[in-house]
This record gives sequence, structure tokens and C-alpha cells, in this order.
Amino acid sequence: MIKLTDTHCHIHEAWRSVNGPDATAKLWDKAGRPHADDLISRALEQGVDRMICVGTTLPDSTMGVEFVQGRAHVWASIGVHPHEAKDYANFSDKLKKFADLASRPKVVAVGECGLDYYYNHSSKEDQKKILRFQIELALQHNLPMIFHVRDAFDDFWPIFDSYPGVRGVIHSFSASEKEVGRIVERGLYVGLNGIMTFTKDQAQLAAAKAVPLSNLLLETDAPFLTPTPYRGTICEPKHVRAVAEFIADLRGENLTDLAAATTTNAHVLFGLG
Ligand SMILES: [Zn+2]
Repeated sequence: MIKLTDTHCHIHEAWRSVNGPDATAKLWDKAGRPHADDLISRALEQGVDRMICVGTTLPDSTMGVEFVQGRAHVWASIGVHPHEAKDYANFSDKLKKFADLASRPKVVAVGECGLDYYYNHSSKEDQKKILRFQIELALQHNLPMIFHVRDAFDDFWPIFDSYPGVRGVIHSFSASEKEVGRIVERGLYVGLNGIMTFTKDQAQLAAAKAVPLSNLLLETDAPFLTPTPYRGTICEPKHVRAVAEFIADLRGENLTDLAAATTTNAHVLFGLG
């Protein structure tokens, strides 16, 4: 059976609700709040035997770290999403607590973090400050990074380039072929998910084809971005299989080769033991 890694999901939020309103928890609630361990079991049935649970705030990252302790097949990434930057930029106590998480067992990355100028839920200034903070934290702990960059690459690259030695992935990639070139020349990975299965944008598909296999990672972003033909249901890590099938077909590769390469890439970047 092929083995796959979901390098980006939020299943820990199905395990326990974060305090306060949260889009991810709400989606899990809408789907009847499946048990996180059932999500893992269903993923295993599809050959998805490694999952990275990605944090977006301090409480969410803390919960992700707790979720993965003593649980097989799952690892944690700690992050403050650019949407949330305004709640952290001027709160050094929160940032200190966040930074402490980096030394916890099974934390394999910092992110998701980055810049999002599509929604602009936080000011550009706050987003940049919190991105820099997380890059410095990752370098300090020699951890790879999971970047979320939307409509903001022109501001992202100068910041990224000011920190030599950063490793990581541009997650949920949906930009142009030009950005693929910039990503690959920096030794970064490109994370593709269900977006590719339902996009009508030919430029996005051309970009997905242009990613060298050595720089490709697969993900779901569950509970978001359910791939075709499962649209209308909640996205789970098991759906990385549908993403893999679509991407293999798009790129004219066989599924076994794509699965093997992307699984190896995930292991090289994140060191999933
Ligand atoms: Zn995400």
C-alpha cells in the first residue's frame, strides 16, 4: 500500500475546542465533531500514516502540542497565523509562552506563519513583526517553517532573504509559476492541497506542474479545502490520498512514485521519526 504524509492539518481542534469563536472549531462542530482518533484511524486506512497538526494561535498551538504527546502518527507545528498577529505584536508575555512551546517533544516546525494581504485581518506592520519573531524562533531551535503567504510575496521575500538558513514549505500554494521559481531557488518546498482539484485557474495548475518532484509536499489543510470528488463534506487527513491522485494525474506521474517522493520529502524536511 502507498504511504502518504499530510504535512498540514488542524485535526487537534476536533479533539478539544479552543476557547472563544474559532472558524476551524466551528467547521468541526458543523461536521458533528468527529473524534480526532477516528480521523487518524480513517487516514491510516488510506495509507496516510503521518500527519502534522498545525497551530494558528498560542492556545491552539498549545493544544496541538498536547494532542500529539503519546499519540502515534501525529506531530505538531506551533504557529501564530498572520490573521492573529494583532493579538500578539504588542504582548511579550504571550510571545514568551509561545516561544517556550518550541522545546516541547514532537514539535517539528514553526508555523503556520507569514503574510496575508488578501484578508488583512491584522495590519501589515503587525504581520511582519510576528513573522520575523517566528523566523528567529525557528532558527534558534533549528526547526523548519510552515509559511502561509497570500497576495504578499513581494513583501515576504525580502524578510525571508534577510535570514539565511531558513528551511520550510510554502503551504497551500496557489500562486503563479514565477513564484515556484523563487521558492525552488531558495530550497523551499511547495505544499499542494485540495485547491488544485477544484480550481478553474489554469495558471495555478501550470504552477503545480512546474514544481520539481524533489520540492513537492502534499497536505489537506483539514477541515478546510476538501478535494474533489468529496466537496460538500468535511476535509480529513485521509483526503490527502485524493489530492495525491489528482496531482499525479495532472503531472503525468504514477501515484506510487509521487507518494514515495513526497513522503521522503516530508521526512527530510520535518524529520518525522
Ligand atoms: Zn492551515
